[in-house]
Amino acid sequence: MKDRYDVIVVGAGPGGSMTAKTAALEGLDVLLIEKRQQIGDPVRCAEGVNKEYLKEYIEPDPAWISAEVKGSKIYSPDGTMIEMSEELSGAEVGYVLERKVFDRALAREAALAGAEVMVKTRATGLLIEDGFVKGIKAEHMGKKYDIRAKIVVGADGVESKVGRWAGIDTTLKPSDMCTCAQYLMTDIDIDPDFCEFFLGNEIAPIGYIWVFPKGNNMANVGIGITGNASGKVRAIELLDDFVQEHYPGGKAIELVVGGVPVCGTIERTVANGLMLVGDAARQSDPVTGGGIFNSMWAGDMAGKVAASAIRRSDVSAESLEEYEKKWRAELGRDINMSLVVKQRFTRLSDHELNTLAHSLEGIDLGSATLIGLLWALFKANKKLLWDLRSIFKGIKDIEMEVSAEVGS
Ligand SMILES: Cc1cc2nc3c(=O)[nH]c(=O)nc-3n(C[C@H](O)[C@H](O)[C@H](O)COP(=O)(O)OP(=O)(O)OC[C@H]3O[C@@H](n4cnc5c(N)ncnc54)[C@H](O)[C@@H]3O)c2cc1C
Repeated sequence: MKDRYDVIVVGAGPGGSMTAKTAALEGLDVLLIEKRQQIGDPVRCAEGVNKEYLKEYIEPDPAWISAEVKGSKIYSPDGTMIEMSEELSGAEVGYVLERKVFDRALAREAALAGAEVMVKTRATGLLIEDGFVKGIKAEHMGKKYDIRAKIVVGADGVESKVGRWAGIDTTLKPSDMCTCAQYLMTDIDIDPDFCEFFLGNEIAPIGYIWVFPKGNNMANVGIGITGNASGKVRAIELLDDFVQEHYPGGKAIELVVGGVPVCGTIERTVANGLMLVGDAARQSDPVTGGGIFNSMWAGDMAGKVAASAIRRSDVSAESLEEYEKKWRAELGRDINMSLVVKQRFTRLSDHELNTLAHSLEGIDLGSATLIGLLWALFKANKKLLWDLRSIFKGIKDIEMEVSAEVGS
C-alpha cells in the first residue's frame, strides 16, 4: 500500500469494485479497500439480478451463477398466481448469483484492470483540508494509516459512514429502510425456473416474501418489510411462519439479516473530492430493494467521471456534478418512478391485491411490456384509473424535474 493514489474506493461490494475497475481502466492509480477479510462474505442478498443488464458489465461465468430462471411468479394473498417473463420482471430476475464468488470475481476484475485491492482494511475517517476531501484514515491489521487521494469514492453500503463524514445527509428513517431476513433452505420442493414473490399484508406488511432458486433443491427464502411495519412485527417471525407453512420439511443452512435503503434518491451524492455509489448513495430500488445492478451502473459512471475530473485537475463538487447529473437522469429517474409506484401500491389491501391479480388471470404476460401490463390492469379495474393517473402524474413530474436538472 502506498500513501497516495488518484482514487481510493471504500468498500468492495459490486458498486466499489465496479468503480475501481472502471477508474483503473481509465488509467488512474486506484486503491480499493474492504474492511472484511473475505470479499463477498457474509452475503446479505437474495442474489437475483437481470441477465441482460449484468452482461453490460461482466462476462457471465458459471462459477458465480447458481441458477438461471425464465421469469417470475407473483402470488396474491389468496394464492392467485401471475407469471411474468424475465424482461418484465425487472432488475432482480434472470440469474440467481453466488455472491460470495461474484463479488470476489468483480474485485478480481478491478485488480486485473490495475487497481490495488486491500482486504481487512477499514476506513475510519476522512482527511479533509480547506473543505476538500484529500484522502482517508484507515486501519489495517491493528495499524493506522493516512492515505491521500485526489478523489475518495464511498461505496460502503447501507451502513455508509463516508457520506456523513463528508457532511452529506444520508440519514435513513425507519420507513426508509427495508428490514430483511433470509434462509438458504435445502431439501425443498420449488420451481427451479422461476423466482417467486408472495404478497399480502398478513404475511409481509409493506413488503414481500421471495423464493429464489439456487439449484439442487435449494433456494433463498426471505422476507423484506419496511421499517415502519417492522416496529410492530418481526421479519424473522413472519419468515418462520411462511417457511413452516410452505416448506415444513425443509432445512435452513444459512441465515441472513440485513437492511436495504428504499427511500428514493437523496439530495446530494457528491462533495469536494468525494462521490457516493450504490447503497451508500441510496441508489437501490424502492419497490424491490434491488441494488446489485444499480450500484454497478453507478460505479462505472463514478469511475469515468473521476477520470475526467482528474484530467481537468478539478475535483470540486461542481466538477463532480457530472456524476450527479448523469446518474440522476437515468438511474435516479427509475428510482423515483419506483418510489411513486411503491407509495401507491403498498397501501393496497389484501382484497385489492387479490382483485388486481384476478384481473390479470388469463392474460399472457410472457410477452407483455410494462405499459401493456398497466393497460391490462386499467382495463380490468376502472377504479384504478385514478391511481394510475396519479402514478403517471408523479412520473411526469419526475421526467420534468430530470430534464430541468439536466438542462441546467
Ligand atoms: C436480504 C437482502 C436481499 C437482497 N436481495 C437483492 C437481490 O436479490 N437483488 C439485488 O439486486 N439486490 C438485492 N439486495 C440489495 C443488494 O445486496 C445491495 O443493493 C448491493 O449489495 C449494494 O452494493 P454496494 O456495492 O453498494 O454495497 P455492498 O454490497 O453492501 O458493499 C459495501 C461494502 O463496503 C464494505 N465496507 C463498509 N464500511 C467499510 C469501511 N469503513 N471500510 C472498508 N469497507 C467498508 C462492506 O464490508 C461491504 O463489503 C438485497 C439486500 C438484502 C439485505
